[in-house]
Amino acid sequence: MLCGLCPHACRIEPGHAGRCGVRMNRGGELVSLVQNRPAAVHVDPIEKKPLYHFLPGTRTFSLGTFGCNLRCAFCQNHELSMTRPVVTNDIPEFPAAEVAEEALRHGCKSVALTYNEPTVWAEYGLEIAKAARARGLKTVSVTNGYIQPGPAEELYRFIDAANVDLKAFDDGFYRRLCGGTLQPVLDTLKLLRKLGVWLEVTNLVIPQENDSPEQLAALAKWVCAELGPETPLHFSAFFPCWKLMDRPVTPRTTLELARRLALDAGLRHVHLGNLHLAE
Ligand code: SF4
Repeated sequence: MLCGLCPHACRIEPGHAGRCGVRMNRGGELVSLVQNRPAAVHVDPIEKKPLYHFLPGTRTFSLGTFGCNLRCAFCQNHELSMTRPVVTNDIPEFPAAEVAEEALRHGCKSVALTYNEPTVWAEYGLEIAKAARARGLKTVSVTNGYIQPGPAEELYRFIDAANVDLKAFDDGFYRRLCGGTLQPVLDTLKLLRKLGVWLEVTNLVIPQENDSPEQLAALAKWVCAELGPETPLHFSAFFPCWKLMDRPVTPRTTLELARRLALDAGLRHVHLGNLHLAE
């Protein structure tokens, strides 16, 4: 059975799951093991996503499940994203309509599909986005952008804003450290811009991996040329975690250099994140 949701296009044998670990061939039917079963639910400031230019100062009802379609060696949420095999029977069901009602009850202006990769729970995310829209709430997605164009159009028609992680402007980085490729992420960014989704981009700057001035400048130039100079770009400090423990925390000077290069490239809104960690 073929899953066409993301560029991996997994062929899934009966009784097995695809690379994301949460989409399974059950007797010839492709099922999501995380439908209606979030593994994490919190109320967060929207700036934490980070989205700095979309409903600033508001809170967003945030939820995520298990699983991911990439395997970033530096994943900061690996307890959720890399859990295999996924057993979700103990997680109480939280249907989309209830998610939207809870968001309203908590005084949130939006619902956030976040913590792990929303692509791998696209059906649940889409139901949540529709339920949220019906109640006057916005929906935001915090995503790696690794999704096929067809499913992306279907999902993002109901998503109001997204922060897309552009992990490096280097296909080798994606292949070596993330188990994916760069081009589909660039394609998703352009598609979301075309669909009118409010877009912010985040780049985690990892010492000795994606922090050369040439690469930082090339990334910023691409964002400016393809997505527009008003697109907010966030450079975020790396800290050692999961499988990438042998790199230092990103120096503050590197982040400041990245910001200067992005401003020189023509971007107007360049933000630095995790600065309290930077040395
Ligand atoms: S969403 Fe999961 S099962 Fe589907 S193609 Fe991607 S990794 Fe494979």
